[in-house]
Amino acid sequence: MIDDGSNSTLSAFEEVNQRLDEAGEIAGVPEEVMALLKNPYREIKVEIPLFSDGRLQHFVGYRIQHNAARGPYKGGVRYHPHVDLEEVRALASLMTWKTALVNIPFGGAKGGVACDPLVMTDEELYAITNTFFTRISMILGPNRDVPAPDMGTNAGIMGWAMAAYGRINGHAPAVVTGKPLELGGSVGRESATGKGVVIIASRWAEKKGLSLKGAKVVIQGFGNVGSFAALNFADQGARVIAVNDVRGGIRNDKGLNIPALMEYVRTTGSVAGFEESDPVDGDEILYQPCDYLVPAALGRVITEENADRVRASTVVEGANHPVTPGGEDVLARKGVEVIPDLIANSGGVTVSYFEWVQNIQQFAWKEERIDDELHEILQRSFTTVVDFAGEHQCSLRQACFALALSRVYRASKARGYIRV
Ligand code: NAD
Repeated sequence: MIDDGSNSTLSAFEEVNQRLDEAGEIAGVPEEVMALLKNPYREIKVEIPLFSDGRLQHFVGYRIQHNAARGPYKGGVRYHPHVDLEEVRALASLMTWKTALVNIPFGGAKGGVACDPLVMTDEELYAITNTFFTRISMILGPNRDVPAPDMGTNAGIMGWAMAAYGRINGHAPAVVTGKPLELGGSVGRESATGKGVVIIASRWAEKKGLSLKGAKVVIQGFGNVGSFAALNFADQGARVIAVNDVRGGIRNDKGLNIPALMEYVRTTGSVAGFEESDPVDGDEILYQPCDYLVPAALGRVITEENADRVRASTVVEGANHPVTPGGEDVLARKGVEVIPDLIANSGGVTVSYFEWVQNIQQFAWKEERIDDELHEILQRSFTTVVDFAGEHQCSLRQACFALALSRVYRASKARGYIRV
């Protein structure tokens, strides 16, 4: 895996800013405004002591609030050993542009704890979650900052987060999204990001006069995003021929049985060793010939060093920032198209928005309504992106950033923050 192995001299945050600079020119945002919009509003770092099994350890956690011109800060919390300040800054910034692009009334934030949930007991995860969310609770709130799950976290952890906040501030389900249904979570939230990936891929195929039926799909990462993307691709008649996770990879050219694989992962914890499949080693997953390659694990896995080996027609960014700017240049030269994270994985935050609305209304929506509204928002946003790219002769990525930047710029002006 090449995470952070990109030999780029830029950090992930600097790479995002490089993309913003390009888009700022297209959107006509003044330079001094760009300098302001790129930087986070507030950054918090907390120590998280953990006394367990007779030993004292300590972890570091971050919450970065990037921009709230359009509404409360919104973004996931990641538990992963590689979490660091620059990465969380990059992810927080991406959330500002993602919520603006799909036009939901939020800003952008991200959090993370540098820890390895794979080697922790449930009690240790509970203790870390409780301490982290207690220590950042003063900057959270349904109208201030609303966390959600990301890599290494899930609905259960969001339930504990809600409880930690509630012990100080009183019961407030709208303070986190991606919660268990029993605590006010939304139907359809768990599968939303993966489903959104396929809604967008399917629209993309349609625009090219193609269909997902029979298309060959390869997915890196089989967690929340990867597994539900696989399931939805399979439902559309595509053949998911290879997937992997941190413990191993598998391939079957006839197409993997995804519901059976999901069940297998639930019981064994990994895709490795699944019936009727051949093993695929580590990063080799990225180089399998296919129509759609979906990186759905860590960031910066396709870089200028390895992009030349990618043999997909289209890369659909299920993960956040999986393709570096250098990697994207190489892919463009090879004619590989990239559907950027800002739109491709925006289904998760969109249904998180529906969950927040339901919590505030204290009224649960039916699954069909969630599904209809999700399709509508994603399809409309994607059409806007494709039209903008056509009109300005720019990449889909530049179109996403430029559209989002204009919206945040206009909202900042309307608030009186920015007078140029
Ligand atoms: P997850 O923790 O549920 O799953 C991550 C998967 O990646 C697991 O299968 C894990 O084994 C695998 N993985 C980890 N390291 C790997 C490696 N070195 N090689 C191959 N596989 C590896 O996380 P998730 O929520 O599915 O998030 C995945 C990506 O999608 C992240 O970039 C996240 O920021 C992004 N994302 C998530 C959501 C969401 O709603 N969960 C929304 C938008 C974007």
